[in-house]
Amino acid sequence: MSAAVSPSHEDPYRKYVHFVDGADRDTDHDHYFESVNPTTGRLWGRFAIADDVDVDVAVQSAHRAFRGEWSQMSASKRGSLMTRWGEAIANNADFIGRLEVTQNGKLLAEMKLQAQIALDWLRYFGGLADKIEGSVIPLNQTSVLNYTLREPLGVVGVITPWNSPTFLTIMSVAPALAAGNTVVLKPSEVTSASAIELARLAKVAGIPDGVINVVTGLRRTGEAIVDHPLVRKVAFTGSVGAGKAIAGRLSQRLASYTLELGGKSPNIVFPDANLDQAEAGVLAGIFAAAGQTCIAGSRAYIHEAIYDELVDRLTRRAKSIVLGDPLLTSTQMGPVATSAQLEKDLTIVAQARDDGAELAYGGERVSVGDFGGYFISPAILTGVSQNNRVMRNEVFGPVLAIAKFKDEDEVVCLANDSPFGLAAGVWTNDIKRGHRMARRLEAGTVWLNTYRALAFNSPFGGYKDSGVGRVNGIDAVNSFLQTKSVWCELGDEVRDPFVLKA
Ligand code: NAD
Repeated sequence: MSAAVSPSHEDPYRKYVHFVDGADRDTDHDHYFESVNPTTGRLWGRFAIADDVDVDVAVQSAHRAFRGEWSQMSASKRGSLMTRWGEAIANNADFIGRLEVTQNGKLLAEMKLQAQIALDWLRYFGGLADKIEGSVIPLNQTSVLNYTLREPLGVVGVITPWNSPTFLTIMSVAPALAAGNTVVLKPSEVTSASAIELARLAKVAGIPDGVINVVTGLRRTGEAIVDHPLVRKVAFTGSVGAGKAIAGRLSQRLASYTLELGGKSPNIVFPDANLDQAEAGVLAGIFAAAGQTCIAGSRAYIHEAIYDELVDRLTRRAKSIVLGDPLLTSTQMGPVATSAQLEKDLTIVAQARDDGAELAYGGERVSVGDFGGYFISPAILTGVSQNNRVMRNEVFGPVLAIAKFKDEDEVVCLANDSPFGLAAGVWTNDIKRGHRMARRLEAGTVWLNTYRALAFNSPFGGYKDSGVGRVNGIDAVNSFLQTKSVWCELGDEVRDPFVLKA
């Protein structure tokens, strides 16, 4: 591991309030939380905490916009405003990217790119807005015209985590808007500023006031959205525990949900793989973004014939990872996002060793220049048994657990032996084996000879505890619609009121 530093983190202390009905809205009470820059460890921002009253004001604003201008607007116009919003975000990618780095310490290059490609997502979903069609049903009663209308749900709550704030916000908000809904967004308490800036850019792009509202706060604020009777669906991205709690509350009042939750994804390397590609793919899966992605390939299963060689290569590469200032392009891994995440990473590495794993490299807190932030060296654990806690629990940090396997059947059992099912990677040059594995693995996404790839038009979501529903692709829009069946008698026949007509 080498270090790159630059004294470029001079954040002015900022104060943020909610963004409701197209304007800043402070709370009437004096409840705030503060945000820490994970690179420096210094406080940089103060955010209002929305209580039930603030949430109600935001939901009422979204409800008015839903009943008003947004639903009266043509779908094409709605779509073109979404594209304009995407352009505004892309044009401000540097600003948004730097804000994200201040909040969560991820690499500027990645945070900026995520803001740039928000345009691809908003253009795609904006383009779908005027392609939402009902159908005409050929009934047996030939005198009746029966057709369906695909209608929006109303106000949608969007609750997001801190790891890829802009990207994950757009992934949920874009299909919701394309379907004609309005939104109340509660961003993570770690990354609230970018959400507010995105909403401000939506106003600049011409999206009507009230269509996108942002309330900041802690868990209680999220719960107030979940419990609000006018919120017809919640699109939640976050941890499994919170997702289950939210689903339970929404089920009580028969509101729907999409859940994008955690993962413990296997990355499986067969001996016939291109080892250079596999090495890069396993590294990208766990150390890119310092392991703080839901799709982290945190379990590597390596065939016994190439185990020693690949472990050796991975360890050498991990040692050379440039840990440092996330604003520099030369940096490969920045800090982790919070002191709690750092403590969790260190604890899990210690537990993994207690459970019998060998630490081949890393897993220690390190200092980088004068930065006082939350830096940890990339950890490689080898000989990890299936019941080791690090194999079973999501870490959400740069911690790779490696185990050996003998054959295809064994590795399928090991890979599927997890409550999670978000993603899986398979490295092989045997085309038949690759597609066999794709069928056998219990995961919402399977990557063959690649990893960490997503697209706006390819469905993404989890099997098992990793989630319910899909983001990206046309189905994402469908999940924000409900279907109405319209019946119209075209004939003049007077019906017998006591005979059912079938
Ligand atoms: P988290 O569950 O702690 O918080 C996510 C959001 O939910 C935050 O805004 C939080 O304030 C809110 N929240 C928490 N409990 C709530 C409750 N009971 N009711 C309402 N709102 C509540 O998750 P996190 O630590 O911010 O993010 C990390 C997790 O997110 C990881 O598990 C990661 O795998 C997951 N994630 C999943 C995806 C995906 O697409 N599947 C993407 C990114 C992150």
